[in-house]
Amino acid sequence: MQCSLCRGKAVYEAKYSGTYLCRKHFNDSVERRFKHELRKQVDLKAASIKISVAISGGKDSSVTLYLMNKFLGNRENIELTAFTIDEGIAGYRDSGLESARKLCEKLNVKHQTVSFEEVFGKTMDGIVKMDPETIPCSHCGPMRRKLMNLESLEYKSDYVALGINLDDYAQSILMNVVKGDFERMMRMAPHIKRKEGLVRRIVPLRRIPEKEVILYAVLNGVEFDGGWCPYYERAQRNTFRNIVSDLEEQNPGAGFAIANFLDEVREHITIGNGNTEMKKCTKCGAPTTGDLCSVCTSIGILDSMKDA
Ligand SMILES: [Zn+2]
Ligand SMILES: [Zn+2]
Repeated sequence: MQCSLCRGKAVYEAKYSGTYLCRKHFNDSVERRFKHELRKQVDLKAASIKISVAISGGKDSSVTLYLMNKFLGNRENIELTAFTIDEGIAGYRDSGLESARKLCEKLNVKHQTVSFEEVFGKTMDGIVKMDPETIPCSHCGPMRRKLMNLESLEYKSDYVALGINLDDYAQSILMNVVKGDFERMMRMAPHIKRKEGLVRRIVPLRRIPEKEVILYAVLNGVEFDGGWCPYYERAQRNTFRNIVSDLEEQNPGAGFAIANFLDEVREHITIGNGNTEMKKCTKCGAPTTGDLCSVCTSIGILDSMKDA
């Protein structure tokens, strides 16, 4: 097949736009969407900006770091750093961490690791043993978000960048719709406004479908760890992964439409748009909508299991 733009050899068919793209025009297309999101999500003209990239070593966060470094690495007003969260999952985290370290070294980006064990005194493997009934992600997600916050407060980062591709993003929107959780949907990243005690999370990859992230990594020599979390099978997200991929199959562009829909809603509705009154967790002081933050709630439950 020929590239629809230059008649060169096509490496990719973008079904949602009915075009075939050669290597150069595929790269251009991915990078254009990434830069557009960066400009929308970050005030790039500010005098001094610190951004930490949360890198797991997987494809999405590796490509995010690669592109952030490509476009922001030489700007005087921007400092890029990276960190990896070690959840304590044997056989999975080690290879991701290795891959994250290598990429940071190659790009000359400062990298740091922070673990569940050192901050919470628990590993995910230990938590799953203690509480085999609960879906592991429901402990892991809030704990990871909390570490991200702590980490970026320590680095004094203005933003933390997450590797969330279009498929992930559309899944999260639908998950919130199905749970009927409007507030949570409105609080999804990207966070434009600063809130006390919470770092703004940005998601510059959110308009790049998963397939394109993988192809971009391969074409541009971005090495990543292809391992899957061993607890993945139990994630609720899997149902939504299938739904989004079926929708996309039957109606190319459905993923973009879902993401655009959220942007439209957020533009027109201000209620709950990050305006929820935040309280402080009575135990750890973290911002929360209830009395206890979700991590302190989780840890309380786990500790009561240990004592029982
Ligand atoms: Zn071309
Ligand atoms: Zn707390």
